[in-house]
Amino acid sequence: MTDLRAWLPRTVDAVDSWMAQYGDFASDPSTRVREADLERAFATLTERLSDNYPFGHPRYVGQMLKPPHPAAVLGYVTAMLINPNNHALDGGPATGRMEKEVVARLATMFGLPQHLGHLTSSGTIANLEALWVAREIHPDRGIAYSADAHYTHPRMCQVLRMDGVSVAVDDAGRMDLGDLERVLATGEVGTVVATLGTTGLGSLDPLPQIIELARAHNARVHVDAAYGGFFTLIADDSPDGVARAPFAAIADADSIVVDPHKHGLQPYGCGAVLFADPEVGLHYVHDSPYTYFSSDELHLGEISLECSRAGAAAAALWLTLEVLPLSDDGLGQILRTCRRGALEWADLLQGSRSLALYQRPELDLVGFLPRAATMSAIDEGSERLFRDAASLDPSEQVHLATYVVTAPALAARGFTVEPDRERARILRSTVMKPESAAFIGEVHARLEALV
Ligand SMILES: *Cc1c(COP(=O)(O)O)cnc(C)c1O
Repeated sequence: MTDLRAWLPRTVDAVDSWMAQYGDFASDPSTRVREADLERAFATLTERLSDNYPFGHPRYVGQMLKPPHPAAVLGYVTAMLINPNNHALDGGPATGRMEKEVVARLATMFGLPQHLGHLTSSGTIANLEALWVAREIHPDRGIAYSADAHYTHPRMCQVLRMDGVSVAVDDAGRMDLGDLERVLATGEVGTVVATLGTTGLGSLDPLPQIIELARAHNARVHVDAAYGGFFTLIADDSPDGVARAPFAAIADADSIVVDPHKHGLQPYGCGAVLFADPEVGLHYVHDSPYTYFSSDELHLGEISLECSRAGAAAAALWLTLEVLPLSDDGLGQILRTCRRGALEWADLLQGSRSLALYQRPELDLVGFLPRAATMSAIDEGSERLFRDAASLDPSEQVHLATYVVTAPALAARGFTVEPDRERARILRSTVMKPESAAFIGEVHARLEALV
């Protein structure tokens, strides 16, 4: 087994030896600086960067954050030294093809028999693109998404000047089918956004039923699987897998968004959008006087809202998937470890006298709260635990995140709480690093000792 980080110096060598064939030239003098200046600036940089949370440590179980896989770093840096632009094949022929290959692998993972798609700089932009296509197809009808959908959906509806309709969620934070039916019956909704893995709780909207209802009302279905998409690899109803049905239904949706920069182990700047019907490409038709001269092949910029995009992002994902393929044995094993960690923590919380599990995790997000009788006591207790856990000695720190819930949402989950205020923060942890799984017992014990 080789340590991928030891390969980093090879990035420069590989690119230098490729460039050498074009002949020597003198680098611009600005590429050389005084060693003492660099020494000082670099020391300041690393010092300033230490003002961060330890995202890569197993005891960081807060937001959806972790460093990229070393294979992604290796792929990214090597390609970045060339700096191709995946807008057009003449900007990055090699990375353009790698992008098409990785997008095809994502489509296969979701079971799409055919597709049109590309990488984006983020999940937000990928969702914007899917909603824009939805508007082109149903220009006079709006978008429905659940109350727990990502906050950027209403915002993107604003950007697109479309009506956005919020659909109620059920007792587990999933889109409520009765309310969806009511909304669809108005005839004013042309597209339903189903979230597979809500950002707050990791809840899975009931996609098979949503698709059935949407089809009955001639509406499109867009799946926002920015966070949860890769769990498709382990959607087998097994003890350390996730529910099969919602993920299996992705193959019947019209468009899908997944973020390789979340569970795909990539650095930021890597989302993806996929359309089931390649014909939607017609909505993108435009000409560019600057580009597209190199071939008759489809340029990625011709099917994308964005212009410049890092070819390095495609190279990073491509190399990652070569060493960790999109299979249960590859990336799936990482997800299973995270899932086991989340379930172990859920069990510990269920047996705890001072902490309580908010709801059973459907993916690897764990919501929990200090046991208390009033909304304000829950809010204050959560805030205190969040702060105290992060203020321990660095070798013991636990980093959490918070999530805002309402009194009715707590009641729906069986908590009897005096609603002396409408909302309260609870704690929310993302167990998205496999390394965290081995620390769950320690993390839980430390939190229990603190409350
Ligand atoms: C993270 C997330 C987004 C936004 O994606 P970015 O890559 O952060 O722009 C959208 N939807 C869901 C469900 C997400 O989890």
